[in-house]
Amino acid sequence: MMDKALKITPEATTGKKIPGLDPLGLRADFPILSTLVHEKWPLVYLDNAATTQRPRQVIDSMVDVYETKNANVHRGIHWLSEQSTNLYEEARNKVSKFINAADSREIIFTRGTTEGINLVARSWGDANIRAGDEILLTEMEHHANIVPWQQLAERTGAIIRWLPITDEGHLALDNLESYLGPRTRLLAVTEISNVLGTINPVAELIERAHAQGILVLLDAAQSVAHRGVDVRQLGADFVVFGGHKMLGPTGIGVLYGRSKLLKAMPPFIGGGGMIRRVRKDGFEPADLPLKFEAGTPPIVEAIGLGVAIDYLDRVGLPAIHQYEQMLTTRAHEVLQAVGDVRIIGPSPRDKIGIVSFVMRGIHAHDIAQILDRYGIAVRAGHHCTMPLHKRLGLTATTRASFYFYNTLDEIDKLGTALEETKKIFRRR
Ligand code: PMP
Repeated sequence: MMDKALKITPEATTGKKIPGLDPLGLRADFPILSTLVHEKWPLVYLDNAATTQRPRQVIDSMVDVYETKNANVHRGIHWLSEQSTNLYEEARNKVSKFINAADSREIIFTRGTTEGINLVARSWGDANIRAGDEILLTEMEHHANIVPWQQLAERTGAIIRWLPITDEGHLALDNLESYLGPRTRLLAVTEISNVLGTINPVAELIERAHAQGILVLLDAAQSVAHRGVDVRQLGADFVVFGGHKMLGPTGIGVLYGRSKLLKAMPPFIGGGGMIRRVRKDGFEPADLPLKFEAGTPPIVEAIGLGVAIDYLDRVGLPAIHQYEQMLTTRAHEVLQAVGDVRIIGPSPRDKIGIVSFVMRGIHAHDIAQILDRYGIAVRAGHHCTMPLHKRLGLTATTRASFYFYNTLDEIDKLGTALEETKKIFRRR
């Protein structure tokens, strides 16, 4: 009954082409996108800011490694180990080129964005931060870029300061100089907010921080696969991101650090693989990058990430960004037409494909649950940004987030399902 009223039919989605990007053609590479949800509705996957899906090429490459090339890296002298070591190091080179690092030894494989930030907070932080030093964060940071600094502050007596945001969801930069003081040691900032979608002016932030001798850590979790990151052009000191939001596997991430900084930093995790020599009275760490890669690394995941980067290179980041902006513009129009919806964050021009919103009188979790009835996957809650939600006077938002395999039809389905959500709550 309700399915009929909703005017959503479980037929295939259609896509609009933009030059150089064919969403329907690309969708065919993603096996999961043909899943039927509740055995009926074609999956409308709008939770890409949480994790993207993986194309067959990435999945197949990982199966192939396990089937034909699996061995530990940097250890064996045997043929198989040479194969997997070469592939693992080739993946590092791909990452290095993708973000335009000067040297692939500046690429440290981690388990994800979160681990990369913790590595910097523990290793660089413990070695360099003293009581009274200041770490500057922003009100729009993910908990991954808050808690490690709070832990550092607990250990050292450092002070956390917060760069405010405007009501529109931009960083408030008018008084930036007053936050970049003589005791400020680090600015840790997200390039793109995982809730607001805001693209922050990180080049300007880095320039202004560097002018005061302050280092900058860039959380690129939401930007690397949407706009790309050019670490050399930005002059960034540390950049962190994870594989699973860029078509790659879970369990793999990247810390980029300028080699001068990484060389001076003590190792984070100790164990095999990260040493040059161990004696009973101590150890000497290995050179970069192995100094920061103790134990058996996520070998197959790194190789899968390399294949994800090949895929992203083929699709092209400029086309992805342009296409996402089209989807986002449509999403804003559709949501505004539903009515009683407040979109959190700036206009589509200033953001990527993330649209968080609240609906008058309906809790975010209820919205997500009703959308799920129609196979539409969105996220509801605080999205690991409790200070941001507090600043906005909210406890939860619903977030729809897009990628290049989403279609305008899917956005329209979101709108129709939200209209239905409103009707259901009005009837109650
Ligand atoms: N920072 C931002 C901005 C994020 O969106 C996320 C993931 N939600 C993270 C950090 C944590 O990333 P990971 O899952 O790779 O640890």
